[in-house]
Amino acid sequence: MAEELAIKITDLWKAYGNVQALRGVNLDVKKGEIFGFLGPNGAGKTTTIRCMLDLIRPQQGSIEILNLDPQKDPVAVRSHVGYLPGELNMETNLTVEGQLRYYKDLRSNKIDWHYVHQLADRFELELRLKIKNLSKGNKQKVGVLQALMSRPQLLLLDEPTAGLDPLMQQEVYRLLREAQAEGATVFFSSHIIDEVETLAERVAIIRDGVIVEEAEPGHLANLEIRNVRVRFLEPVDVDALGRVEGVSLVSKADGNSVNLQVEGEMDRLIKALAAFPVADLEIDHPSLEEIFLAYYEAQD
Ligand code: ATP
Repeated sequence: MAEELAIKITDLWKAYGNVQALRGVNLDVKKGEIFGFLGPNGAGKTTTIRCMLDLIRPQQGSIEILNLDPQKDPVAVRSHVGYLPGELNMETNLTVEGQLRYYKDLRSNKIDWHYVHQLADRFELELRLKIKNLSKGNKQKVGVLQALMSRPQLLLLDEPTAGLDPLMQQEVYRLLREAQAEGATVFFSSHIIDEVETLAERVAIIRDGVIVEEAEPGHLANLEIRNVRVRFLEPVDVDALGRVEGVSLVSKADGNSVNLQVEGEMDRLIKALAAFPVADLEIDHPSLEEIFLAYYEAQD
């Protein structure tokens, strides 16, 4: 039997006029996991999340959120989901508490006020303050708090730590792990690679409206791309190695050494190296950051 999924997205396409924001996005997020959604600016993260809540309609594709179709049952979906939008649009004259009540009414959610007070304490947030007097970071805390306050089954968080200082970022990570321990699924978008590596059990990288990689952060580093350093017994013409399919010359470290990046199978490089007097060969897997940057660069 298939694993239970909190989110299932199949072949999702969305255009804004001439801008094709999503081009066949597929995503499976298991119930109870923390899933990171990583991608450069404009890659389609916010668009994907907004489609999940039926805040915008895709041209094509299907979405199931907690086994519900958001287009048929948006109210039910939103009542089970804690959503942090990427851009908070808050009624500035309300107090923090008033704002939280407003969100509750909007989503017909129940609030556990005891939990709200606990969260406010942990965020060092004063509920009686007016939203308009809050700093950007404190507004972000209100956004995270309102997403968590109904103890939803699914958290959809668009850049949850944007604008927060490092201590508060850590507090958010703790809260999300606690939500997971209580059975929630957490789906969050981020630009911050460290954050995804720290928090996510699985990660998808989206680029230009397409998911280009999906794996556990640790495994992602094992995929496809390798850094290879070769030391030769004597100076050799290494340019020929850069012409091997899947191999690019990163740098010639000194007369006898070369740094290469290999995409895909190692076989072609190994065979090409057989023609040279090799003294030493080091292979390592790039970090998630290097992989991410490789995708960034591929976009240019
Ligand atoms: P960021 O990390 O910068 O928030 P993102 O990955 O969330 O980016 P989206 O906001 O989903 O990306 O945008 C995807 C593409 O769709 C971009 O090219 C963006 O300019 C475009 N886009 C998004 N919203 C609209 C809109 N309302 N009208 C026109 N184009 C839009």
